[in-house]
Amino acid sequence: MRIVYVNGEYLPENEAKISIFDRGFLMADGVYEVTSVLDGKLIDFAGHATRLERSLGELEMANPVSQDELLTIHRELVERNGIDQGMIYLQITRGAPADRDFAFPDPDETPSSIVLFTQNKPNLADNPVAKKGIKVISIDDLRWGRRDIKTVQLLYPSMGKMMAKKAGVDDAWLVEDGFVTEGTSNNAYIVKDGKIITRERSHDILHGITRAAVLRFAAEAQMQVEERNFTVVEAQAADEAFITSASTFVMPVIEIDGAELGDGTPGPVAVRLREIYLEESRKAAV
Ligand code: PLP
Repeated sequence: MRIVYVNGEYLPENEAKISIFDRGFLMADGVYEVTSVLDGKLIDFAGHATRLERSLGELEMANPVSQDELLTIHRELVERNGIDQGMIYLQITRGAPADRDFAFPDPDETPSSIVLFTQNKPNLADNPVAKKGIKVISIDDLRWGRRDIKTVQLLYPSMGKMMAKKAGVDDAWLVEDGFVTEGTSNNAYIVKDGKIITRERSHDILHGITRAAVLRFAAEAQMQVEERNFTVVEAQAADEAFITSASTFVMPVIEIDGAELGDGTPGPVAVRLREIYLEESRKAAV
């Protein structure tokens, strides 16, 4: 049984409770972060903590813990749950006011709720899926207009995953005004003639912490990077494609809407970037 963290307490998971009036539950009024753990250490913790502050700031939501406390809680959960490889899920919501109301409650009367739990994934780094690559379909991006804020409004991404599953593939790429925005829970990239192409940062996509690191490592390795929009047709004609996220790192994509990329196996740029990312982020882990 897991030990989880809820509003200042470490508890067995079956004793952890959140109010039915919590605005995360009633209104998806909450933000989250997922930080990976490799070798018992946190990958890119500072990046996730910084983005958390930004998400909270954009929603005028109070952070119930300091950055130092957050690091302590993450480490404590890794320790107490004996996590070698896996993830830490963190969620902060606008708390539980006395009654349901659309207006935000006064933060002095209604403190934010905070919950963290671990997810044990012994094969996170050595994921066999990365050796084969994944297949994706494209679907309309019907999410709200502030995808740069990491909120818990994940119904449409969940529907997208189910559409992919029904189509017999692994994930969906979201398309708006003819251009790919990102994957359901990851950033999307194509590679053409050695150049890495990915959508630029805006309100349209989540500013992935893994994206930032991968683009930095790519530049350091003298790879060419272009941040611009691309279509599904351009992606289908690319030499290779991949996604990034905190839990998949760099994951090759081998098929888009039934069109095989290259020879249908993970491309060299994606494979190399995965190696570099794992090596460098493990070195910098805390
Ligand atoms: N884009 C979306 C919509 C996501 O949900 C995620 C992660 O959950 C990402 C991109 C990747 O972000 P990160 O690399 O910080 O995990």
